[in-house]
Amino acid sequence: MDKQCGRCHLIFERMPGYWVGAMIINFAITAGAFLLMLIGGMVVTWPDVPWTTLTYVGLAIGGFLPAIAFPWSRTIFAALELAVRPTEANDYAVDD
Ligand SMILES: [Zn+2]
Repeated sequence: MDKQCGRCHLIFERMPGYWVGAMIINFAITAGAFLLMLIGGMVVTWPDVPWTTLTYVGLAIGGFLPAIAFPWSRTIFAALELAVRPTEANDYAVDD
């Protein structure tokens, strides 16, 4: 990810620890997908739920989805944070 916007030079990491919010969003996406898969799998296959298959699919979701969702998590968090905290002059890189 670029450190700043190519057009307006907004520095994306606006404070130390800024991306913790993105990690929370990433976790929410992963947990939501896992729960959707688990509950959906149980509802569709009840009463003969394939627990072993659901376990492996769950492990795949937990192992790969955070890496896949990582860029979107940062974008979503940056957009949400910009919506609630307007930019200040020192949020922009000095243009050389
Ligand atoms: Zn911009």
